[in-house]
Amino acid sequence: MTTVLPIEVRPRDLSRYRAGNTGIDYVHRFESGRPGPHVLVNGLTHGNEFCGMVAVCELLDSGVRPKIGTLTLSFANVAAYETFDEARPFDSRLITHNLNRIWSAAQLDGSDDSVELRRAREMRPAVAAADHILDIHSTSQPVAPFWVYPAFERNAAVARALTRPAVHLVMPAGLGSGTPLIQHGGHAGEHGPGAALVVECGQHFMQASADLAVEVAKDFLGHFGLIDRSPPPAALPRRFELLRTHVIQHESFAFARPLIGFETFAEGELIATDGALEIRAPCDDCTIFMPAREAIVGREACT
Ligand SMILES: [Zn+2]
Repeated sequence: MTTVLPIEVRPRDLSRYRAGNTGIDYVHRFESGRPGPHVLVNGLTHGNEFCGMVAVCELLDSGVRPKIGTLTLSFANVAAYETFDEARPFDSRLITHNLNRIWSAAQLDGSDDSVELRRAREMRPAVAAADHILDIHSTSQPVAPFWVYPAFERNAAVARALTRPAVHLVMPAGLGSGTPLIQHGGHAGEHGPGAALVVECGQHFMQASADLAVEVAKDFLGHFGLIDRSPPPAALPRRFELLRTHVIQHESFAFARPLIGFETFAEGELIATDGALEIRAPCDDCTIFMPAREAIVGREACT
């Protein structure tokens, strides 16, 4: 199921963005001096998801400044990003922990240690301070871009208003496998301070993914009035609900057929086997998001 794809976007040297103005490496904050929301645009939660890096670089390089409120721009897992090896382009996603699963108070306040836990602890005040968060990601497989967000209306309203991408993956019961950045602190609850969304922009190394990330980041800032921006063209959303996240139990894990995402299954149809466990579709027209490229015990097989 490994797909060999051209690497169209390569990592850049981010050292010139290291010294931000917040006391946190790779975190930059711009205050308008006028009332308005505090918006955070973050890239590189996963080290090999270059589209977010391109979008944050584009905003910083263009000298973006908010007309109202406050803008924070950040690169999250630069340590993992810097381990990129073109021969093994999927390995630089993370070093020890998935930086998008460790945002619970229990983990952040706990005594475990890793590159990612240290980075999440460093970034915690920047994430906690934001009213609205756009966390930019990409996928292993070249599938249609999509939003991912907890099923709060405040999130859905923003994703609908932005119109692109048109596919929404809504999480009525959270992720089911850890706490993502967009569910840190106040954003976890019904009465959060604002919208917090992941955008999956397409395949990690495609130029189209980077191009979309730049547009979505600008749409997001325009939506909240931080920059002048015409609303994106109207589009009808396609909405999916996250029913289950499977964490791989056995090395023998295998999908029933090769999958990249968005394939559909009838209720009860076999999706995968994991040791003696059969994973069957919980509903008709069930689909899967983000199938794992290889079976790693303890990692998520698919969403
Ligand atoms: Zn990601």
